[in-house]
Amino acid sequence: MTSLLIKHAYVVTMDDHHTELPDGGLFIRDGFIEQVGNSADLPSSADEVLNLEGHILLPGLVNTHHHFYQTLTRAVPAAQNANLFNWLKTLYPIWARLTPDDIFTSTQTALAELALSGCTTASDHLYLFPNGSKLDDEIEAGLQFGMRLHASRGSMSLGESQGGLPPDSVTDKEDVILADCERLVQRYHDPKPGSMTQIVLAPCSPFSVTGDLMRESAKLARKYGLHLHTHLAETEDEEQFCLQKFGHRPVGYMESVDWVGSDVWYAHSIHINPDEIAVIARHNCGVAHCPSSNMRLASGIAPIKEYLAAGVNVGLGVDGSASNDGSHLLAEVRQALLLSRLKEGITGYSLSNDPNRKLMTAREALWLGSRGGAAVLGRTDIGSLEVGKCADFYAINLNHLDYAGGALHDPVAALVFCNPRNVDYTVVAGKFIVKYGHLTTVDINNQVEKHNRAAKRLMSS
Ligand SMILES: [Zn+2]
Repeated sequence: MTSLLIKHAYVVTMDDHHTELPDGGLFIRDGFIEQVGNSADLPSSADEVLNLEGHILLPGLVNTHHHFYQTLTRAVPAAQNANLFNWLKTLYPIWARLTPDDIFTSTQTALAELALSGCTTASDHLYLFPNGSKLDDEIEAGLQFGMRLHASRGSMSLGESQGGLPPDSVTDKEDVILADCERLVQRYHDPKPGSMTQIVLAPCSPFSVTGDLMRESAKLARKYGLHLHTHLAETEDEEQFCLQKFGHRPVGYMESVDWVGSDVWYAHSIHINPDEIAVIARHNCGVAHCPSSNMRLASGIAPIKEYLAAGVNVGLGVDGSASNDGSHLLAEVRQALLLSRLKEGITGYSLSNDPNRKLMTAREALWLGSRGGAAVLGRTDIGSLEVGKCADFYAINLNHLDYAGGALHDPVAALVFCNPRNVDYTVVAGKFIVKYGHLTTVDINNQVEKHNRAAKRLMSS
């Protein structure tokens, strides 16, 4: 039994009533929130007491789409100015040299960046397993780090020789993929409240797996009550591929392979028409919105306001670090707000011709980052600060140059409108992962050195 008491913070609960407590706190016992309220109403002692006067405290951010291994191939010159398909073709041969150690190292690097940006639950999509690499390498790194992980067992089975995009050398046989999925579920998947590790089944994209693997993955996921995840409608190239190869647009293809339902979430979902938004809404599928990556690869702008208006669950993702090229989730909240507003401008938003249409607000963007992400991953135990929920949160000192002036007017808006900062505290299950601005489970200097050594070897071998 360990308890932690936080007092005197500006607490943003993200509960259904959007409660904010200007002088609030939390009482935590054994990783769960036992009380949330005004500081004066909380117990006076605990095993550890932290006075967070001058700090804002929010529910931990939930990252719904990433490829941790790509932290090793950021800003690669040949892939800097390419669109998705050419970017992938440039990077596949480099990724084919990844080793189990590379997966472990890159996972810890990505988690360190995420933790320092307020993330407490991360979903990762690992879809190539060269040189003996396994999803286990990532899960081990995640468990040692201490962040909640939804590890997506990705896959690629449709190589160039069969009309797919990736070289055959980075694809695997479908029976091997499905057997490994089942092994991972039995070894790691924990569906209980407070779970630290969940397994997701995640064939990579329509242009890298067969329809058979999509159907079989869906069957397996439903047998074990898992979630399903894939890239969808990211580019016009993909749309053309789906029409030619499968005779459907991407969403129609998903319906044809039984990939619709509240257990399914798609990354990106940019090139989607109003009828397809209605399909996604009707089936309660989720969407992982990755604004930085979509801008970096010139993929397009996802119709987020339309998804939200239709009732679709939308979460945020930083996407792989070779197309962002960072893992700063609070910065992604800001990008989501800015890109949504840009889209309104491009498509002719005008207060005068539609007074009911409003620009995305800072609080709405933060909601996508926590509550939205939790809903997309199918979790009701994270995403808000309420009694009985996981003690996952981050806190930032508002007395910084970046917030000077702004935080006085509105600390919540300052977090999104002002320059995104690293956090001072990140807590997962009541345990500090970031304390006084420093990571507690990883030595950052060693980590950067190890990471650079691996990245150099990958590029030169
Ligand atoms: Zn991706």
